[in-house]
Amino acid sequence: MVPADRDVTLAALALQTRAVSGTRAPLPHVVIVGGGFGGIAAAKTLAGKPVTVTLVDRNNFHTFSPLLYQVATSALAPDDIAPNLRGIVRRSRNIEAHLGRVLDVDLDHHAVIVDNGPPIAYDYLILAAGSVSSDFGVPGVATHAIPLKSLEDATRLRSTVLRRFEEANANPALIDEGALRVVVAGGGPTGVELSGALAELFTKVLAKDFKNLDVSRAEVVLVEAVPAVLGSFSPASQREAVEELEARGVQLRLGTPIARVDGDGVELTDGTRVTARTVVWCAGVRANPIADSLGLARTRLGEIVVNKDLSVPGHPEVFVVGDLAAATDRAGRPYPQLAPVAMQGARHAARSIMRRVRGRGRTTRFRYFNKGVMATIGRRSAVAELPLGVHLAGTLGWLSWLGLHLVFLMGFRNRAVVFLNWAWNYFSWDRGNRIIIPDPD
Ligand SMILES: Cc1cc2nc3c(=O)[nH]c(=O)nc-3n(C[C@H](O)[C@H](O)[C@H](O)COP(=O)(O)OP(=O)(O)OC[C@H]3O[C@@H](n4cnc5c(N)ncnc54)[C@H](O)[C@@H]3O)c2cc1C
Repeated sequence: MVPADRDVTLAALALQTRAVSGTRAPLPHVVIVGGGFGGIAAAKTLAGKPVTVTLVDRNNFHTFSPLLYQVATSALAPDDIAPNLRGIVRRSRNIEAHLGRVLDVDLDHHAVIVDNGPPIAYDYLILAAGSVSSDFGVPGVATHAIPLKSLEDATRLRSTVLRRFEEANANPALIDEGALRVVVAGGGPTGVELSGALAELFTKVLAKDFKNLDVSRAEVVLVEAVPAVLGSFSPASQREAVEELEARGVQLRLGTPIARVDGDGVELTDGTRVTARTVVWCAGVRANPIADSLGLARTRLGEIVVNKDLSVPGHPEVFVVGDLAAATDRAGRPYPQLAPVAMQGARHAARSIMRRVRGRGRTTRFRYFNKGVMATIGRRSAVAELPLGVHLAGTLGWLSWLGLHLVFLMGFRNRAVVFLNWAWNYFSWDRGNRIIIPDPD
């Protein structure tokens, strides 16, 4: 719903919407909000179909979030994992990209409200705006911790870690204040992958860069509220991950939640303090706040409750996919917040729209086909749980992880660059992307 205090009043909006509708192409217009995994999959499914599509995103790039931790740890450059959205849809004549932040959606007047132009009218809408980092009410997270959810977060984290090393190099007394210690909050795949990669960055790269600094005092402390890491994986994978992390020197504090974060580090609920000048928050997400004002039924974490076919109750022309949707299986269990869920759901929504456009009757239930889960801990170390009970670990798991991420990465250029970077990092034991981006004055 559009709040009353908005500049755009409902009456003005209705007029504007009609104005846009007046120039609407004769083909049905599908607006996709979000050029992430879901949005791109929906756009690709609608490419060449008898609809016009507008893909709206606040960024002009797609973020391949599974590799954000590699940007944060200097293994890859930001551009390597962020293909340009216009480039992605360039060959699809019926798809246009729109760079703009979506502020609201007027479900009654079928219009998407953007920050940089008139409302965009739609016949069908796919909401794929994803999720945001959530502090779950832990004091100090918003002020003192860095999330790992966007490309900006990843480059900020990289700069922060490298800057702390420079500061400690200039003034070694800062080591006692935690300048070389990073606390990673959250032992899910992101926290595990980041911890392993940070530990390798410290021991294999920065130890050689900083000749006069005692880099052996650098530490990664992984804090997880429950007694295990990789909660959604099997006990065997969890054990493997713990062993591999410990082999890399990562300190594990499992089973004790963080009570608060401040400028000096974190305090756990048992009263223990961990002094650290860098705290990374990988402990959870909630739905994009775009859902807050729509007046739709939502879950505790803000996801929009959807019908079996991913449409919104009472709005058969609106579909929600990916992290923003509270999609469930037949037993009512929520689907996980994973890229394949978003992609498969988006394809399903796009196909449902085409059924409606073609007047081909009822839409069907969305079913997620689980092709497995993976997490890498570091060089030649990963766990992969694939269908039919196949469990890979060590080098084999790592190679399958590398291969799969190359396949899913969008665009030939990005794949080639990432592959070359990985090969360089592997054979040289180096990381080529170690610039500190200066803070704006
Ligand atoms: C660090 C990290 C690592 C991950 N690793 C894995 C992994 O290894 N495997 C896996 O399967 N999943 C992984 N995930 C989860 C996966 O990234 C998400 O489940 C997936 O991205 C959800 O897709 P989506 O399309 O719903 O949202 P996203 O891919 O997040 O896309 C949302 C898009 O909406 C845009 N947007 C948001 N708000 C607005 C607005 N107001 N206006 C305009 N545009 C907007 C954003 O810019 C973004 O492009 C990871 C997530 C993170 C954060």
